[in-house]
Amino acid sequence: MTTIPAITCQGLTMTYDGAPALSGFDLTVDRGTIVSLLGPSGCGKTTALRAIAGFESPDAGTVRIGDRVVFGHNADVAPEKRRVGMVFQEYALFPHMTVDRNVAYGLSGADTPSRVEAVLDLVGLAGFGSRMPHELSGGEQQRVALARALAPQPEVVLLDEPFSNLDAPQRDRMRREVRQILIDAGATAVFVTHDQEEALAIADVVVVMRDGAIVQSGTPSEVYSRPSDPWTASFLGDGVFVDGVAGSEGSVTTSLGRVHSESDARGPVTVMVRPEWIVPLPDPNGDSTVIDREYFGHDQMLVIERPDGGTVQCRVGARPNLSRGDRVTLSIDDAVVYPA
Ligand code: ATP
Repeated sequence: MTTIPAITCQGLTMTYDGAPALSGFDLTVDRGTIVSLLGPSGCGKTTALRAIAGFESPDAGTVRIGDRVVFGHNADVAPEKRRVGMVFQEYALFPHMTVDRNVAYGLSGADTPSRVEAVLDLVGLAGFGSRMPHELSGGEQQRVALARALAPQPEVVLLDEPFSNLDAPQRDRMRREVRQILIDAGATAVFVTHDQEEALAIADVVVVMRDGAIVQSGTPSEVYSRPSDPWTASFLGDGVFVDGVAGSEGSVTTSLGRVHSESDARGPVTVMVRPEWIVPLPDPNGDSTVIDREYFGHDQMLVIERPDGGTVQCRVGARPNLSRGDRVTLSIDDAVVYPA
């Protein structure tokens, strides 16, 4: 038996004043998954989210929530009828209503008080029902917004940069909490971010967007360690790019040494290596030299000079006590190869 995805977008296209915001946007989100929609500013993330929610009507394409067509084939279901919960950057709580009334907004029926109590408990705010929004911290306000979105048991929850109004330590804590809340609620969620670390940390599936379309989707480790092209590789994190020549049986010769390739490319290639895939082995006879070190406590970034005068950065744990002037030999743990 095949399960119907929670969200299916096909061929969404949308232009604003002739400028494309979505160009053939195709997205499938399986039930119970947390998806982050990641891309640079202006690539169409918010437009895609708003099209799923029903706040934008694309020029072409279809949107399905479960097995229901909510946009396309002559349908354009109103946002409040799509069974979608939204959480915005700016919380959007009603300032003159208590927490209870904010969460109850949109609910009806005799079980409303018990449902409000249950979702406030889920987001860790049991007992906060009679407070006003201004009596809450930013993180607490965002949890109320999440409780309000979850209260009607929507098919999907859409979150648009939900942590960007919080300071850095609060943001880290909130993203762990929100992930756990969404898992506990069994929710399907799509959340928009332009922060790579956040996208990788919170999601089961990361969808990378560029110029209105999806360039890659996969688990956080797939997109980070096997980016589909050099642009995605650079967008997702630091990378060292070197020229190489691919020979037989996946062996690629580069200025950093020999690396193994999973691709069947032959001849000139571009090789991408993440800084943590370069391992500097202390060696008094090594051909490379540590010329600088940034120490972060939990890890450190070393700048290494190669025999040809070029430099590479490598990220290692805090332990190796390497400092300026130390000789090393480099070993490459992993690499991704692209056609030159
Ligand atoms: P950000 O990370 O900066 O929020 P984004 O990826 O969410 O960006 P969108 O807000 O979806 O991008 O915008 C996509 C493109 O559409 C941008 O070029 C933007 O300027 C344009 N755009 C968005 N909304 C409108 C609008 N209401 N009128 C005109 N152009 C718009």
